[in-house]
Amino acid sequence: MRFDNAAVTTGGETGNLIAFFPGTGRDVEPLLFSVHMDTVEPGGQVQPVLRDGVFYSAGDTVLGADDKAGIAELIEALEVVRDEKITHGPLEIVVTIAEEIGLVGAKHLDYAMLSARRGFALDTEGVGWMVLQAPGANHLQIEIEGIAAHAGMAPEMGLSAIQTAALAIGQMRLGRIDHETTANIGRIDGGVARNIVPQRVTIVGEARSHDPHKLAAQTEHMLDCFEKAAEQMATTISGARLRPQIKADVRADFPSMSIAEDAPVVCLAKAAAEVSGQHLEVRLGGGGSDANIFNGHGIETIILATGMNKVHSHEEHVALADMVSVAKLLVEIIRLA
Ligand SMILES: [Zn+2]
Repeated sequence: MRFDNAAVTTGGETGNLIAFFPGTGRDVEPLLFSVHMDTVEPGGQVQPVLRDGVFYSAGDTVLGADDKAGIAELIEALEVVRDEKITHGPLEIVVTIAEEIGLVGAKHLDYAMLSARRGFALDTEGVGWMVLQAPGANHLQIEIEGIAAHAGMAPEMGLSAIQTAALAIGQMRLGRIDHETTANIGRIDGGVARNIVPQRVTIVGEARSHDPHKLAAQTEHMLDCFEKAAEQMATTISGARLRPQIKADVRADFPSMSIAEDAPVVCLAKAAAEVSGQHLEVRLGGGGSDANIFNGHGIETIILATGMNKVHSHEEHVALADMVSVAKLLVEIIRLA
């Protein structure tokens, strides 16, 4: 068991935890299982409450089942495999840091430590689900630079960055673009005072799509709206033709993932579900997760549901019986691999 160097590269308290279990008499490909150790806030002083077989928090924090349910299920499965002396191939367990704040641990993971090419990430809601596809995302930060002027005495000497932003966003296709693409403007900061034509505005947004071409097209469209708005705002000040300046910073946040329904890792999960008498169906993922990053690094990773529900809220909960079924499923995956 080792920690990688991610504490240093991210400035965090700890690195990603990686544990290796050598195969027991079976010479097959290594298999990766991943979970994340961080939770969203407020999750520091959680008082778990077991009510009618379901774990809740006391109500003033999240439960943190996202992703502690996955951690517990994985540990339980490994203990069963050990106690029942089930022969298995090599296992690589990855417990990442800082998933919730942008897949930071997975992005900074030392991939040289891993040799698995296939795996399972335990990190989605409900039971009996696997996610094979999840969108990629671009983060956009746009700075609009206009010209400040006194709003009462000389508005014609100014170029309003806020008006430019409003024009741009007003023309923008946002929200659900199609069944696999979404877009959002999430934050606007700018302006100084009521009586000053605003010089500067910063806008933060995102585009997501399962299709990399659609992701590029939507990102392009959003940037284009700012350029068009700047053109519309162009005016002559003291004899010079001026327009607001647009500075765009686009960062690919994570790649999309897409695994075929007949991929070996999917067949393995389905076979394990059948043996343990469970149903496992495919659901489309909506957000980015560590699995996006693993897939981007060539580790074919599907996401398995852990039984958690209403995550990122104070009503978050997970049923003990569901955790037991997930642990059983994991045992069968390890046995069949
Ligand atoms: Zn999670």
